Order: sequence, then structure tokens, then C-alpha cells
Amino acid sequence: MRKKRLGSRKIETGNLRKRQTVNEMVAELKKLGRTENDYRRRSLEIHGLICAKCAREFDETNKHLLTVHHKDGNHHNNPPDGSNWENLCAYCHEDEHSRGQLGDYLKDDHR
Ligand SMILES: [Zn+2]
Ligand SMILES: [Zn+2]
Repeated sequence: MRKKRLGSRKIETGNLRKRQTVNEMVAELKKLGRTENDYRRRSLEIHGLICAKCAREFDETNKHLLTVHHKDGNHHNNPPDGSNWENLCAYCHEDEHSRGQLGDYLKDDHR
């Protein structure tokens, strides 16, 4: 019996890998969307319903006014211990970002 390895194997692998990459990208995006919703909830849990700057307190009825700020400006940096998060009310958050560097970041980030 003769076994012959076919050269087409490489090509199949190539196609497969390409398809997987697209799926992976979609999965990654979905995961990311979930994470972004999740970090807000987690940050509120960890740091409490209070603005870290003006100390204004919030409750279930108005907690949507409390936003999560990323201290290092990177909203993909979400350590589970909450060390990169700061809960800021909408006013303080705006103030924080209007100081400069993070103007663009606010546009596509948390509101
Ligand atoms: Zn505030
Ligand atoms: Zn922020």
C-alpha cells in the first residue's frame, strides 16, 4: 500500500485559517461588547454608587448618570479588581475629559 500525501493540504489549512479568523473576530467583538456592559456593572458594584470626585451619591433610579472612567484612558484595560475604573457622575466625567488628551476617547466610549 502506498500512501501519498497530497500537496493540497496546505491550501485547505490556509482557507480554514482564514475562515476561523473572521469567526474569531466576530466572537471577539461580541465578547468585547459584553465586557463593556459588564465592566460598568462591576465598577458600580466595586466602587459603589458614588461619584469619586464630587461624592454625589446615586441610587437605582438615577445610576445611569454615573459613568465609569478609565484612569489610564484605555477602555480595553479592565482589570477585574476595578483598579483602572473610577465612577464619575456625568458632570465630573466631562470635566475629567475636557482637560485634554481624551476628547476623542469619550466619543466612542462610555456615556
Ligand atoms: Zn461628580
Ligand atoms: Zn472617562
